[in-house]
Amino acid sequence: MIFMLNKIDHIGIAVRSVREVKDLFKSLFNLNPDFEDDVDDQKIKVIGFKVGESNLEFIEPLNDQSPISNFLKKRGEGLHHIAISVDNIENILGEFKTHQLKLIDEKPRTGVEGKKIAFVHPNSFNGILLELTQELK
Ligand code: ZN
Repeated sequence: MIFMLNKIDHIGIAVRSVREVKDLFKSLFNLNPDFEDDVDDQKIKVIGFKVGESNLEFIEPLNDQSPISNFLKKRGEGLHHIAISVDNIENILGEFKTHQLKLIDEKPRTGVEGKKIAFVHPNSFNGILLELTQELK
């Protein structure tokens, strides 16, 4: 089976305060975020800026239970994940499973802006936390 990797959908960056990022982008580029979203099941607040076809997403934990909160404690602010846009997320997850990749999400869940998303463990992907995203049709 052939899978299309459409583009880098976004790069996720863990931050302590999206407010500070907003202020920085405002003063540096006179830019406001292209979107802002709270994803309650992941306990995160996200702001995004368009960069060409992709987005930079800045992610702040909403509380101590957020996976981003653990990340910040262990590693500090910085690159958290890379997201690739695909057309058939379920099929790709099935293929990854066949190849015994370690999946964080065996089935897609709902991410920012209602997209289908699923994460693949960094141990299966050269140390990169990989996110697959699929646009809603
Ligand atoms: Zn993401």
